Amino acid sequence: MSLLTVNGLGKSFGGVKAVDGINFNLHAGELLALIGPNGAGKSTTFNMVNGQLHADRGSIKLDGHELIGKPPREIWRLGVGRTFQIAETFSSFTVVENVQMALLSADNRLLSTWRRAAGHKRTEALELLDQVGMAAQADRACSELAYGDVKRVELAVAIANSPKLLLMDEPTAGMAPKERNDLMALTKRLVVERGMAVLFTEHSMDVVFAYADRMIVLARGRLIAEGKPLEIRNHPKVQEVYFGT
Ligand code: ADP
Ligand code: MG
Repeated sequence: MSLLTVNGLGKSFGGVKAVDGINFNLHAGELLALIGPNGAGKSTTFNMVNGQLHADRGSIKLDGHELIGKPPREIWRLGVGRTFQIAETFSSFTVVENVQMALLSADNRLLSTWRRAAGHKRTEALELLDQVGMAAQADRACSELAYGDVKRVELAVAIANSPKLLLMDEPTAGMAPKERNDLMALTKRLVVERGMAVLFTEHSMDVVFAYADRMIVLARGRLIAEGKPLEIRNHPKVQEVYFGT
């Protein structure tokens, strides 16, 4: 059975059909890439799955639970996580503190309890940092880290509440090729080790073809192709959209 099942999903902004009745599914342990040209509807799709945007029509089921109509916090509690950029206000906190806060928030403890709770969850946070290769830098401020390392911490924060599905909208934007590959290799390892599913968007076709288990392609709100990277590479509709041939 699939973890996520999307059926007839649609959203319009004024007269623009940003997402126009798409269907796809996603299995546990799978890294699914959502690709398509600018304006294809990728972010709109993500934001409907995480509850930030309300769908006009269709259905999004996670383990059989309908997500449409649920507030983002509840969708998060049901197991849909997403990567957030570590905001400037949090960058003065250390690496391990950022992960401790994520663990507390997964336990429903408010940030206001942070001072009292400082020191809690450190062991657990260090274990998560170890999984993303950042344990050695646990006590540095995030503001001092290299960009690729900040991305690793963001990943540790995102998996702190053990999501079943992790959404990553352009995770490697602004990264050099080596950093991109490192981050995606790490993501792939987490998917395998934790049995988590990942839905991600990515501009670099090299990265997508190297790491995605399966891909779906959107163009003007419609799903025009779906398959394994090799199938997608040779798909006539995809060639048309990307290369105008
Ligand atoms: P992508 O992430 O694939 O680049 P988006 O999902 O951001 O595409 O956008 C899909 C379409 O919906 C585009 O035509 C975009 O201009 C439009 N759109 C997205 N968000 C909004 C919004 N909040 N208000 C109006 N139009 C929007
Ligand atoms: Mg986008």
